[in-house]
Amino acid sequence: MSEPIDLIRRQVADLHQELVRHQLVVWTAGNVSARVPGRDLLVIKPSGVRYDELTPQNMIVCDLDGNVVEGEHAPSSDTAAHAYVYRHRPDVGGVVHTHSTYASAWAARGEAVPCVLTAMADEFGAEIPVGPFALIGDDSIGRGIVETLDGHRSPAVLMKNHGVFTIGEDAEAAVKAAVMCEDVARTVHLARQLGEPQPLSADDIDRLNFRYRNVYGQRPAAQ
Ligand SMILES: [Zn+2]
Repeated sequence: MSEPIDLIRRQVADLHQELVRHQLVVWTAGNVSARVPGRDLLVIKPSGVRYDELTPQNMIVCDLDGNVVEGEHAPSSDTAAHAYVYRHRPDVGGVVHTHSTYASAWAARGEAVPCVLTAMADEFGAEIPVGPFALIGDDSIGRGIVETLDGHRSPAVLMKNHGVFTIGEDAEAAVKAAVMCEDVARTVHLARQLGEPQPLSADDIDRLNFRYRNVYGQRPAAQ
């Protein structure tokens, strides 16, 4: 095995533990994948293997059509959706799928999570949109993800009656988006129980999102 694939195998195996740690998954549901930089390959979770049994060695390497290149097990049953996203979004380096509770409750109603918190404006820059209902087995989930997120600032989409897919420049960014998606879905749900959440203006959302992307966080020291 070549070295970049080994690093990605380890990263993808480790990031699955973040889904468990943040209580985004139960049993074997949910999956993380990453693109192998410079190669037309992705690394994804094996199908039906428990989270505490995931290792770098049992991750599955697939081509971008979802065919297995290296691996003992079948790849995740969501591999076709991940592969579709990588084929159509060269900017995407990581994809995550969960059925996290609060976000999936919004998906069950087919309702977007409105952008009513500064943290949402920061991370998502908009509402978290709803994608179409799609059955597993062909390209329709992948197509729904790509079409819904096309031109949208949100890295997360709620697939109707299903759950969450998130994208990122790498797998860690996609995991972060999945964690934040569940967090804001929960908070806005709770706000709803007591009244109508107050909207943020489009201007304020733009300003918050710009600052978060360009100013916030640790910057390298000036030369
Ligand atoms: Zn699913």
